[in-house]
Amino acid sequence: MNEHFKKASQHVSQNERLIFETSSPGKRAFDLPPLDVPAADAAKLLGRHHRREGVSDFPEVSEIEVLRHFTRLSTWNYAIDLGMYPLGSCTMKYNPRVNEFVARLDGIATEHPYQPQELSQGCLKIIKLLEDCLLEITGMDSITLQPAAGAQGELTGLLLIRAYLEKQGNPRKKVLIPDSAHGTNPATAVIAGYQVENIKSESHGQIDVEKLRDLVTEDVAALMITNPSTLGIFEPRIAEIADILHRKGALLYMDGANMNALTGITRPGDMGVDVMHLNLHKTFSTPHGGGGPGAGPVAMKKILEPFRPTPVLIEKDGGRLLLDANRPESIGRVKAFAGNFGVLVRALAYILAYGPGIRQATEDAVLNATYIRKNLEGVFELPYSLPSMHEVVFSDARQKQNGVNTMDIAKRLIDYGFHPYTTAFPLIVAGAMMIEPTESESKEECDLFIDAMKSIAHEAATNPQLVKTAPHTTRVGRLDEVGAARKPILRWKQAPARSEAAD
Ligand SMILES: *Cc1c(COP(=O)(O)O)cnc(C)c1O
Repeated sequence: MNEHFKKASQHVSQNERLIFETSSPGKRAFDLPPLDVPAADAAKLLGRHHRREGVSDFPEVSEIEVLRHFTRLSTWNYAIDLGMYPLGSCTMKYNPRVNEFVARLDGIATEHPYQPQELSQGCLKIIKLLEDCLLEITGMDSITLQPAAGAQGELTGLLLIRAYLEKQGNPRKKVLIPDSAHGTNPATAVIAGYQVENIKSESHGQIDVEKLRDLVTEDVAALMITNPSTLGIFEPRIAEIADILHRKGALLYMDGANMNALTGITRPGDMGVDVMHLNLHKTFSTPHGGGGPGAGPVAMKKILEPFRPTPVLIEKDGGRLLLDANRPESIGRVKAFAGNFGVLVRALAYILAYGPGIRQATEDAVLNATYIRKNLEGVFELPYSLPSMHEVVFSDARQKQNGVNTMDIAKRLIDYGFHPYTTAFPLIVAGAMMIEPTESESKEECDLFIDAMKSIAHEAATNPQLVKTAPHTTRVGRLDEVGAARKPILRWKQAPARSEAAD
């Protein structure tokens, strides 16, 4: 590679007014042909409720103005289609375009969930095939594809555990959660009605198995383990952990959002895991990051099968598929219809396109994370040194000495043409810098990222102010992230002078 090549340079990014400000009266993007039936008849046919008399202050612009407006706005943003998106835990991998093609096929995109099951055999077959693939990948016995996200999968999984234990006479009180688990895990346990007991990791970042032995009592319903953990570290004693729980009648829940580190290599079902969720929108490649849609299927062992959300897909003699709602022990429905079907289609397309080669995607994800780790090890602090799986967690400890923290470094990355990594998570690492390149990235892109990180480390040592005030090349500097999340303004409001009714 050219030694002087840098990913980012100055790039024309045009100013843009609001589309309301571009408006001028009478402009049209599109004109309907003149009405060829009497207006009164047309009005009657449409009915009063479907007609609008007018929309006040609707922008009036030409077609090319609309196109340019939104195209220009899109260039202000960062996207996986522009470059690496190393957001740890989020698995921002490339989403192959063939998935989109498949999801848009006639007969898939146009199916309606209310159409008779007899006419939906193709779609039900897609669901069945995906179920079979995911069971093979996870090594589990049974699955539901209904949950719409990882977090909803967790809740579904804990409700399965609760139903199972209740049937035995006692739902129990506690769920154990290591401090290296994903933040959604404790939230889920509380919503499912359990007390959370935190387990501190030992010094290498793994579960302290000896301590666990003491903590697992008859009060414990389950242990929720993220494996690999949010430190990117695999829990090698997981089979032993499962055994400790099972001996006391408790179950092992595995947060499988990080299955992109295991798929094709090892299977949670073989490790003694009783129930787990997958994040199809991460591991199995659906565009995400804007809040959905996603899918968080829950795979389980036989003991939990009777409690699966309804309806469940069953195969009749002759191969007919049927959605069966008659399951007296079920925890009930957790999502309308078949869940987010479009995401399921994309996941199946992705899995079938790879076939057994999916193992290499896993190996490449681990290789990329390890490559970045090896190249940055001397530059940033590495708090846990066990081998990295799909992601690596550094800390800002060295740069902190110059007053530069993980957020500053992440913001400075934007000036180098990269999306920031995940900052300040996992919580057990102060000033965490969590980097997940995914398998999608070439060595060249990883090298550019490594160069950028080294360059920022150099700046932090020689000109910390430059890093602390980054980004310098974006249209807006540092946003109020809490305000943006808690008080989002999602809709343009008229200036109060023009209308008092603005909300
Ligand atoms: C992303 C993630 C979740 C939550 O998944 P959502 O689909 O965002 O609800 C849970 N656990 C881990 C380890 C994750 O990475």
